[in-house]
Amino acid sequence: MKTQVGIIGAGPAGLLLGRILQSQGIDAVVLERRSRDYVLKRIRAGVLEQGTVDTLREYGVAERLDREGLPHTDMKLFWGGRRHSIPMIDENGRRLTTYGQNKIVEDLVLQREADGLPLVFDAEVEAIEGLPDKPVIHYTRNGEKHALQCDFVAGCDGFLGVSRKHIPDADAHSYEKVFPFSWFGLLAEAKTSTETRGFCHSERGLAVSSSRGPDVSRLYLQVPPDFDMATMTDDQIWDELSLRLANQYGKTLNRGPIVDKAVVRLRGFICEKMVHGRLALAGDACHTVPPSGAKGLNLAVGDVRLLAEAIHALLVENDDRKLGRYTELALQRIWPTVHWSCTMSEAFHIFPGQTEFDTRRQYEVLNFWAYDAVGQQVFRNSMLGRPYPQY
Ligand SMILES: Cc1cc2nc3c(=O)[nH]c(=O)nc-3n(C[C@H](O)[C@H](O)[C@H](O)COP(=O)(O)OP(=O)(O)OC[C@H]3O[C@@H](n4cnc5c(N)ncnc54)[C@H](O)[C@@H]3O)c2cc1C
Repeated sequence: MKTQVGIIGAGPAGLLLGRILQSQGIDAVVLERRSRDYVLKRIRAGVLEQGTVDTLREYGVAERLDREGLPHTDMKLFWGGRRHSIPMIDENGRRLTTYGQNKIVEDLVLQREADGLPLVFDAEVEAIEGLPDKPVIHYTRNGEKHALQCDFVAGCDGFLGVSRKHIPDADAHSYEKVFPFSWFGLLAEAKTSTETRGFCHSERGLAVSSSRGPDVSRLYLQVPPDFDMATMTDDQIWDELSLRLANQYGKTLNRGPIVDKAVVRLRGFICEKMVHGRLALAGDACHTVPPSGAKGLNLAVGDVRLLAEAIHALLVENDDRKLGRYTELALQRIWPTVHWSCTMSEAFHIFPGQTEFDTRRQYEVLNFWAYDAVGQQVFRNSMLGRPYPQY
């Protein structure tokens, strides 16, 4: 088998890259190790920057997003027994929109299938041979081994994927901070009250409440790093959420069946070597952010926009200059965004051994974001996302 671009991974990065390349007349094959069902049901991100919404519109995959997405006009932060609100629309009308990552993935999968383009599920990539110049992807499907010859390979296979292992010295160019806690992410069939929706600093640990639809809540609890979710019943989960998010504010949470649970360790990670010959990384394959900034998916979209342009220049115009600048330009957006996500984590979580002095310092950061004109601008601009770098 042969193609112009072999894309490893059918997450938001790989699927969107496939869609952009299609609009440029470039052939691609997307290989995904998980089943179709698993990929469509995977619950993860859901807070979209304006640039992400505009990109999905630009490439014709935002029809349902425009119907079902929930735009935000402000963001609620809770701390010290009070609720605070930060305006979230800028002078250009940019705002955040809530729309589940699983829906974006489904929209892209259905579009690719409707267009009759290759998307192979249950295809586990094991190795990329022939780098740097003549890459061949080796993968296994239903116990059979396959090889895919490519003019270019896009490694969009997430933090645990294989692509990064094919970049020589990737570890020596990587930076990582692992936080001493995890997030327990929950999806519940329960209406989110506007009074309890927001980011909460609590002495019991962070809690987040957001909405994924009229009758669906997305909730998070800070938990210990090695937390075993089997140790908490659903009633205990709702009790803990109420203690952090509602009771001290005189509010009540709407409860309902919890339909999805996952634990994610908080880490910031960047691999600064994103290209090796005709292999380039995008999305979580080369960076991971703590989810507290709601930035992972949005960063992946920024990478893919740049990478698609570089691939077009290379394969259509035989010009490798954009590929040569891909890493430098992508990092201009990655580092500040990872920094912001870590800053949000530092402001909202209770750290091991935390003292009242540490908590008061966190309140000062939160006060600055909520009540100082400069702080409000920093918060709003950071949440709304940085502009896309241009070649
Ligand atoms: C609980 C949670 C909440 C989050 N909240 C937000 C949020 O609110 N906003 C936000 O912007 N981001 C958020 N994120 C981050 C966001 O989900 C990720 O950044 C995003 O999924 C990255 O997309 P990606 O396509 O790069 O990687 P992924 O979505 O990880 O996709 C990689 C794909 O590659 C496949 N793959 C891996 N190895 C192989 C292989 N060997 N062969 C073939 N396929 C392979 C995987 O199965 C996967 O489908 C959150 C993440 C988590 C875990």
